[in-house]
Amino acid sequence: MATERFQTLIFDLDDTLIPTSEVLIPQAVQQVFEILSSNGLSWDFKTFEAYRKKHMARWSHREIIKNIIDENHLSPKSHIFESCLKAFYEVDLPAQIPLLPDAEATLKYLVPRYRLFLLTAGEENTQMKKVIRSGVKDFFHEIKIVGALEKQDKKESITEWIRQKKIEPEKTLSIGNRLKDEIRVSKSLGLHTCWFKFGEHADESPTEPDEQPDYEVAHHSELVSTCRL
Ligand SMILES: [Mg+2]
Repeated sequence: MATERFQTLIFDLDDTLIPTSEVLIPQAVQQVFEILSSNGLSWDFKTFEAYRKKHMARWSHREIIKNIIDENHLSPKSHIFESCLKAFYEVDLPAQIPLLPDAEATLKYLVPRYRLFLLTAGEENTQMKKVIRSGVKDFFHEIKIVGALEKQDKKESITEWIRQKKIEPEKTLSIGNRLKDEIRVSKSLGLHTCWFKFGEHADESPTEPDEQPDYEVAHHSELVSTCRL
């Protein structure tokens, strides 16, 4: 009897199920820029965006904001930093958040076939609102929200799931848009990986073996066939 290749699929949320780069990031970035400007940053928005995009592959937004404050000697440093983080990670959300095209149909197809887990990083209330307002909550067997882009936290969550025998690494597929985040973490723990090439990190390339995904898709309509689900 053929055994199932996968039992569990772990989805990322931002830019994997919802188009965060398109619907939420522009407003969050604008608010951060306004806070920095009103506290002495002399850059125009174009310069700010160029800096952000240049460093986005390697640094989290948390690190980018911190470095702009440091490099431009803005003060009071901790106050500005906290205000920016709040503006970025606790952005005002619309009452309804769209899903990416075909995400809903794909989740409906997957729900009776696999156990679906959601693993997302960010401010807890904001992330839970995104889960609810995008309508995906009931598709998931397990939902875990970890701290704002502390990459270690996703690793700890998956490690914990393995330890608790909630998942078997070799029978788990992890789907996300960040090579340096969920793809690297998942591969390093022996999970299979699918890179969802969407949003601000879609143009990045793997720079080490653990960042090399097993599968790549750019659209939810490709997920089932590409990963043979
Ligand atoms: Mg993401």
